[in-house]
Amino acid sequence: MEYYDNNINGTLCILRAMKKNSIYNLVFSSSATVYGDPTYLTLDEKHPLSATNSYGRTKLFIEEILRDIYASDKSWHIALLRYFNPIGAHSSGLIGESANGIPNNLLPYISQVAVGKREALSVCGDDYETVDGTGVRDYIHVVDLPIGHLKALENISSLVCDAINLGTGNGYSVLEMLSAFEKASGKKILHKIEARRAGDIASCYANAKKVQELLCWIATKNIDDMCRNGWNWQNKNPNVYE
Ligand code: UDP
Repeated sequence: MEYYDNNINGTLCILRAMKKNSIYNLVFSSSATVYGDPTYLTLDEKHPLSATNSYGRTKLFIEEILRDIYASDKSWHIALLRYFNPIGAHSSGLIGESANGIPNNLLPYISQVAVGKREALSVCGDDYETVDGTGVRDYIHVVDLPIGHLKALENISSLVCDAINLGTGNGYSVLEMLSAFEKASGKKILHKIEARRAGDIASCYANAKKVQELLCWIATKNIDDMCRNGWNWQNKNPNVYE
């Protein structure tokens, strides 16, 4: 209920306030999770939509709401930015992510193991049909995302209600991310293989052609940058917000 209340009700409140104030340009933070369990890769924006969990379903419903809003009133210009997996931190080491409690996501967990806050990473399944059996995702530097937003705003008047992937187009497995982070941090990161996590899919990575064509955006940072910046932040701020 909290996912639905926050995401769906929150969006409806914003939309009403925008309409009341005659603001018709909207950049929506959607997610690659709206592709559900991929039937083909790479994921282009025409891939059928579905959801494998409640969070994903709220994103999918919001996209449908926004498509209806646009259909009912063509004054709107809407960018549905489908984020892949944002990780890393600002290169200054001053802004980064501090997970609330035990991290759910891979990179926050890996960095807490590297800094000595947790003992070992649990790898959620090594029997997927991927390069090494572990899940493959399209990780994108968190600073590349706002650049994508700015590009969407700059070009918003030429958009109608467009779904646009924000991803690099490259997929990395859990074990590949683990070794990239070991390299960036110089730390050995223990891991153990566990069962698959419910709702997870084997592979998810973007076809990043449309964003390049429509918004002239391309990811500027690679996996090594993401791990180096993420580690710099974690190492400088091991107990931030606690
Ligand atoms: N993962 C893992 N251990 C963890 C957290 C995640 O092995 O403690 C795996 C997960 O199964 C997936 C990948 O890492 O293959 C990315 O998971 P994350 O939760 O970061 O992103 P999402 O599931 O949203 O793609």
